[in-house]
Amino acid sequence: MFENKIVKEILARYQTLWALNHYQVLGSWDLNTYMPEAGASARGLAEAKLSVLKQKLFLDKEFVGLINALENESGLNDYEKAVGRVLKRALKQYEKLPPEFLEEWSKTTNEAHIVWKNAKKNNDFPSFAPLLEKIVKLCQQKAEYLGYPEHPYDALLDEYEEGWKTAEAESYFDSLRQPLKELFSRILASPRYLAEHPLEKEPYSEEKMRQLNQKVLEFLRYDPSSLRLDVSVHPFTEALSLKDVRITTWYHPQDFVRSLMATVHEFGHALYELQGAPELEFTPLAGGVSLGVHESQSRFWENLVARTPEFVNRFYSEITGLGENLAKYSAEEIVRYFNLVRPSLIRVEADELSYHFHIMLRFEIEKGLIEEKIKVKELPEVWRAKFKDYLGIVPETDTEGVLQDIHWSMGALGYFPTYSLGTSLSALWKASLEKELGEMSQLINDEGIAKIQAWLKQNLHQYGSTYVLKELLKRQLGKETVETQPLLDYLTKKYQQIYQL
Ligand code: MG
Repeated sequence: MFENKIVKEILARYQTLWALNHYQVLGSWDLNTYMPEAGASARGLAEAKLSVLKQKLFLDKEFVGLINALENESGLNDYEKAVGRVLKRALKQYEKLPPEFLEEWSKTTNEAHIVWKNAKKNNDFPSFAPLLEKIVKLCQQKAEYLGYPEHPYDALLDEYEEGWKTAEAESYFDSLRQPLKELFSRILASPRYLAEHPLEKEPYSEEKMRQLNQKVLEFLRYDPSSLRLDVSVHPFTEALSLKDVRITTWYHPQDFVRSLMATVHEFGHALYELQGAPELEFTPLAGGVSLGVHESQSRFWENLVARTPEFVNRFYSEITGLGENLAKYSAEEIVRYFNLVRPSLIRVEADELSYHFHIMLRFEIEKGLIEEKIKVKELPEVWRAKFKDYLGIVPETDTEGVLQDIHWSMGALGYFPTYSLGTSLSALWKASLEKELGEMSQLINDEGIAKIQAWLKQNLHQYGSTYVLKELLKRQLGKETVETQPLLDYLTKKYQQIYQL
């Protein structure tokens, strides 16, 4: 895979950076699972020092010289080129953002995080507004420092989905907007529409849910020697190496589906990491390429596998055994519950369809802020107007509205679109996979799961970060655009059945 002399030298030197990163990931996993609370400030300090050390090692003259020398090399294969691309990208961050800017950035976002938390708690947007104004300015500055092809928001988007431009995101959302709005109103008008489902109030046994999560992971062919499941406040995945990936889930007094879907979702992220080519291990190409592509893997397993009738049938006796009252629900009723569509205020609780509306309005707001067409102080009002338009409901408080997400307090403008993108991509991979393997509904069994995983490995996972999204699409489907028709077809077909449209 790696033959070029310069690449080989880069990779040999890179191992120390890899090792530091390995321990940073371990620290982050520990912080979010088992660390005693009072350990936080020491961990924060250790983490900051390691980051500085990493930067120093990265900016070592000889190392930078090698990365730059790679640009003049000819005859590189795709993997060797990708090593250059990934390292150049990291170098650009270090070189183009001045230390004063980075200092200002971390000072502002650290403060903003605390202020946002309190503002959310007290429904007090005005207290957060001045910091958010500052963050928007810093994001504009960051875009100028980093440079962009057409629109300053390109630079922000690129941080989360490499190479995806504002204009492309815009036409992507344009092609989803009307069809999804129409499907949404047909569901809302259906006699089978349900605003609430009794299953969400049903208590369940945590012990039995743990057993079910375990059984589901076994069905998904997980290898306990390389993947572990723990519990955390918010579910997440951390990859330490090809043979050591950690996922977490959560448990609540009621509504078992939250735990189940979290486990399957994080498993999807984990599988992407676990199925990388062994040759990429310890190189900058190990691990998934971008947030959107990563999310396409988690959504694939969550939505396209775990929400299906076949999956529910497979685990029907375990599901109905989770709590005393659950036995009365039929498999069909459980599938209906897994696929409930309804307007909701909170993004993370939104269903598969209306979720895209939550993202569209955030994208429009972020772009408006960067273009200075929307002012921060108008945000609560803009939020309500957009909510009314997309979802037909309006939050009563800013806590449930513009203050709900952590992202803006972190300066992560450009992040949200990748959530919607990931879901669309999962439907794209599904359509592509079905051409080779047949209908997914026939594959939700032991043999089929193995085939799906082999397909994902062959077409996506093995490459790690070698190809950016556009290259993956081109290799897979012959063109670079994110087609939305597969998502629309899949959702329409599914809801036609469930809601008898
Ligand atoms: Mg995820």
